[in-house]
Amino acid sequence: MGKKNLKFMLFFILSINILFASTINRLKWKRGDSFSSYLKDNGVNINIFNIVSADDLKFLSEIRAGVTFYELLDSSGKLEQVLIPIGEKTQIFLGKVRATGKYTFDIISIIYDDKEYGATVSIDSNPYIDVKNTLHNSKLANKVSQALKAVNTKKLKKGDKLSFIYEQKTRMGLPYDIPDVKIEMLETKGKKQFIYIDEDGYGYVSDKTSQAYTVKGRKKITFTKRVAIKRGGIRFGMPLRHIRITSPFSYRRWHPILHIYRPHHGTDFGARRGTPLLAVNNGRVTYAGWMRGYGRVVKIRHAGGYESLYAHQSRMRVHVGQHVKKGQIIGYVGSSGRSTGPHLHFGLAKNGRWVNPMKVLGKKYVGRASRSVLKKFTKYKDTTTTKYRTISIKNAGSNREKLLKYLKSGKKPFIWSAFKGMSMNIEDVPYD
Ligand SMILES: [Zn+2]
Repeated sequence: MGKKNLKFMLFFILSINILFASTINRLKWKRGDSFSSYLKDNGVNINIFNIVSADDLKFLSEIRAGVTFYELLDSSGKLEQVLIPIGEKTQIFLGKVRATGKYTFDIISIIYDDKEYGATVSIDSNPYIDVKNTLHNSKLANKVSQALKAVNTKKLKKGDKLSFIYEQKTRMGLPYDIPDVKIEMLETKGKKQFIYIDEDGYGYVSDKTSQAYTVKGRKKITFTKRVAIKRGGIRFGMPLRHIRITSPFSYRRWHPILHIYRPHHGTDFGARRGTPLLAVNNGRVTYAGWMRGYGRVVKIRHAGGYESLYAHQSRMRVHVGQHVKKGQIIGYVGSSGRSTGPHLHFGLAKNGRWVNPMKVLGKKYVGRASRSVLKKFTKYKDTTTTKYRTISIKNAGSNREKLLKYLKSGKKPFIWSAFKGMSMNIEDVPYD
C-alpha cells in the first residue's frame, strides 16, 4: 500500500476488488482537510490547479466535512480516480489518464441509479421496526411509517401485511438519498386499505382528500348599542353680540328703584339703546307686548321646557306665534318699563321656574339627555377561517396498479443488506 495515508484508513468503510488488484475506497472527508492537502497526500502534482478554471476552483472550497467520497486505487495503492460530492448533484472528478499517466480534473454530475421496488412486510412488532429488520433500510422504514400516520397503526395485529411501492436511488453500489414511498397497503384479515402518498410523503386514506387551510381576512361586524342622545337645540347662544353684565341673577337683591330687597330673576346686560337683541335659541314667540315693569317684552318658548324673556326693549321685531331661529334679531335694547337706563333684562325659565341664565347661556349642552336610542355600529375584525380543498394524490391510480401487480407477481422484496452492486459505475468514471 506504500505511503497510503493512514488517516483515511480510519474512515475506511468498504472496499471491494472490481478489477485485477484495483480497489474502491468509500471514505468520509475529514474536517479541516483541503483539496490541495489531499492532492499532496496522494502524490498528485499541485500543477493540476493550472488546468482548473476559476469557476471550478471555488468548488474546491465547498467540500463538506463528513461527506462520503470514493477513490479508485491501482494495484500499487496509487490514486487512479477520486469522486468527491459537492452538494447533492455535483462532484469533483480527479483521474489519471492512462495513456499519458497524467491527472485530469473536472466538475461532473453525480450519477445514480433510480429504480422502483415493491415489498411486502409481515407485521410483527410495528411497521418501522418490521420494515427496518426485514429490508435493512432504515431511511425506507422512516418514510413508510411517516405515511402510515394517516391510519391507526395501533390496531395492527401480528401477521397483518404491509405492502408498498417505493423508489430508491443507488450510487456506487449503495442506497443513495432518501427513498420515495409511492403507495402503501395494509392487509388486515383480508381487508385491504390503501394509503395514498403525496409528494411530501404524507399519507391519505383516500386518493382524493380534503385538506384544511386557513384564510386570513377581515370580517365586517354590525351590532346595535343603546346610546344617549342629546336634545336638539339645547345649546344656547347669547342675547347680545357683546356681553357686559351689569346685574347678575339673584334670589335677593337691593332694588335700585323700589329700594327694597327683592329677587332679581334675570341677568341685566348693559348695552346702548337700539342694540339688536338676539333669540338665544330656536323657538316660538309666546309673548310680544307691554308688560308692567318689563316695558316692551318678548318671550320665546324653546325645546327642553325653556322660556327666554327680553325686557325693556325700545322696539320689538317679532309677534306672538312667530317661529324664530337662534341668533335672529327679535327686538332692540331700550329702557321701557321700570328701568334706570337702556339695558337688557334677560330672564330664563325652565319648566316655569326662573333659573340663572349664565348657567345656561353659551354652555355646550344643557340638561341631561332625556332619551336613548338603539344605534347601529359597524366594525372590522381580523379573522382566520378554516377552509377545505380537495386535493388529488398524483398518480394514485397508476401506483395502485403497480402495487397490485407487484403483489400478483409474488416477487420477494429486495433486501438492501444483500445489495452487492459494487462496481464503479462506468458513467462515474468518464476518463479511462
Ligand atoms: Zn333686571
